[in-house]
Amino acid sequence: MNVYDSEQIEKLLAPSRYKINSSFEVADLIIINTCAIREKAEQKVFSFLGRLADIKRRRPNLIIGVGGCVAQQEGKKILKRMPHVDLVFGTHAIYRLPYLIEKIETERCSLIDVEMSEVIEELESVIESSLDRTDPKVTSFVTIMRGCDNFCTYCVVPYVRGRETSRFPESIVNEVKCLVKSGVQEVTLLGQNVNSYGKKENLNSFPQLLGRVNEIDGLFRIRFTTSHPKDLSDDLISAFKNMDKLCNHIHLPVQSGANRILKRMNRKYTRELYLEKIDKLRNNCLDIAVTSDIIVGFPGETRADFEETLDLIKEVEFDGIFAFKYSDRPNAPAARFTNKITEQEKKDRLQILLNFQEYFTTKKNRALVGSNELVLVEGLSKKRVDKDDAQSKCQYVQWTGRTEANKVVNFIQSEGVIPGDRISKGKIVNVKIEKACSHSLSGKPVQVEISALKGEQSYAA
Ligand code: SAH
Ligand code: SF4
Repeated sequence: MNVYDSEQIEKLLAPSRYKINSSFEVADLIIINTCAIREKAEQKVFSFLGRLADIKRRRPNLIIGVGGCVAQQEGKKILKRMPHVDLVFGTHAIYRLPYLIEKIETERCSLIDVEMSEVIEELESVIESSLDRTDPKVTSFVTIMRGCDNFCTYCVVPYVRGRETSRFPESIVNEVKCLVKSGVQEVTLLGQNVNSYGKKENLNSFPQLLGRVNEIDGLFRIRFTTSHPKDLSDDLISAFKNMDKLCNHIHLPVQSGANRILKRMNRKYTRELYLEKIDKLRNNCLDIAVTSDIIVGFPGETRADFEETLDLIKEVEFDGIFAFKYSDRPNAPAARFTNKITEQEKKDRLQILLNFQEYFTTKKNRALVGSNELVLVEGLSKKRVDKDDAQSKCQYVQWTGRTEANKVVNFIQSEGVIPGDRISKGKIVNVKIEKACSHSLSGKPVQVEISALKGEQSYAA
């Protein structure tokens, strides 16, 4: 969501005199978009801001703005702690940014705008394709709703992003169409709980919205995140079968495998209900990949509770998980819970859990060796590979992309296999998977640019 918000900031400032620059050493304006989800993210903000003090001393006309969730949470405390900051703007103030910057330029004052509003303004006017990008995007996030009404006891989101509000479906569809026009082939629809999209406002349901996005010509893939297990409906489960562009991957955060902890987290589902939903998903879409988020060391989590989480991991066999050590967040009720787990114990549990999951991630990846996967090429991988050629040892650049199930695949252009067909960013390549590493796959490209629609694939032998 922060990536999407940063892109909105880039679009909002596109008509201004400021242009994107890769070095903040020479920038006239630095905007820091911040995350408050865990303590560590917040600490990073302050250490980064500290580093900017020196640049500001050398170049006093530089304008420094802090936006996002830490800005919303800390407000004027940021200016107190970091006097070289000129602007603090909250999560609902993004669309006022051009005006705020202009005011700072003319009045040379510092400003705070952390006002929350019920209706958040929309950025409709800037067409993606009008942005001066040297490197056009292939995949893009699209926020479909903001805020959250769930109040999980560990979570800061409802306090820093406010109440849940859904965007109009027309506005979302228009945005996706613009992105497609600019070359985007895959969109990820974003919300803290996409399952409740449109309910409060009586708009389209989430499956209906998916149906409308699914009809957009030129779009290859649709993903979404995040789905709250308590609201995962049968209609949404069926969408994985019925909508040709919807990818066979769901991120379904479970957080804990122990009912006692789920209750204290206010997650409003049980371990049994979660497992039932996983069964339904798999019965409906055999090869669906399932990933999850897990928190270790929630206040009061006993060793037995933690083991229930490990047991759930074994039962579900996730394709991958994101695991986090619990940290207290301002305003979140769990910060006031007793029986806190020590930092060392949280660290140990995290390590045990990650090692445990590693086995299943590798197992799932290994099962793909020998299969053909359609990979949407996202660009060149940072890593180069050594290969023994007929005459010499060479270094090759690797292409990287993702399968429909969201697995990263790396491969090198192989002239012999694909005569005359150059691989490039945005191409859809059929790759024969040859090797499974713990967090990625690698293989050999077999054919480029086959029909983008499921069910119309034709592979070259
Ligand atoms: N809306 C999503 C989650 C968004 S936050 C959902 O409900 O699933 C992303 C992840 O951060 C959460 O799933 C959770 O695992 C983690 N997280 C949130 N608050 C946290 C905290 N206080 N400490 C540690 N991890 C936390
Ligand atoms: Fe946070 Fe829970 Fe809302 Fe997710 S559903 S954003 S974890 S309060």
